[in-house]
Amino acid sequence: MILETFPVGILRCNCTILGDETTGEALVVDPGDDVPAILTRLALRHLTVKQIIVTHAHIDHVGGAVLLKRATGAPILLNQNDLPLLAMMEMQAGWLRTKPPEVAPPDGSAEDGLKIGVANYVGEVLHTPGHSEGSICLYFAPQQLLLAGDTLFAGSIGRTDLPGGDSRKIIASSHHRLLVLPDATTVIPGHGHSTSIGEERLSNPFLNR
Ligand SMILES: [Zn+2]
Repeated sequence: MILETFPVGILRCNCTILGDETTGEALVVDPGDDVPAILTRLALRHLTVKQIIVTHAHIDHVGGAVLLKRATGAPILLNQNDLPLLAMMEMQAGWLRTKPPEVAPPDGSAEDGLKIGVANYVGEVLHTPGHSEGSICLYFAPQQLLLAGDTLFAGSIGRTDLPGGDSRKIIASSHHRLLVLPDATTVIPGHGHSTSIGEERLSNPFLNR
């Protein structure tokens, strides 16, 4: 498996490229910005994007999705519960005092249980509302890998003070959908450094009250 995670944009959202070294197919998660840099990384690895998945419709995660789609032809998946947030892009850009990126309706909804990924690396969508109504995580069970978006961070959880945020829901999602995964599961959050489910179960102050 080719796995590259790197920060994009002013809020340093973690964008992840997950590729299959044998077929040359790839999945891109959260192309929030810096699309030329994402395309350069894909070209260096000789990867063709088959799917673009956005963990939630905050500007720093979704901002480059349309440009990446235009460059690659790959469809965009976003959970339908975040469509109201996607429609608020001007307001979101205002929070950051930046220009709103071009957005478009996704090509499909990343629903709970949906199988995603590429031929040899198939993962599953976990709907984990709380940071936003349509927030999702991507779980690759054979690889013991979780792409957590802004639901779970190393030592923290996502903020819930933005429209659609709900602190009780993010705690419930974390306990019922994420902390039930095996301890050895590597967690790549939407911002900051990686962690593991075991580490967060033990020491995350927001989940140990
Ligand atoms: Zn967010």
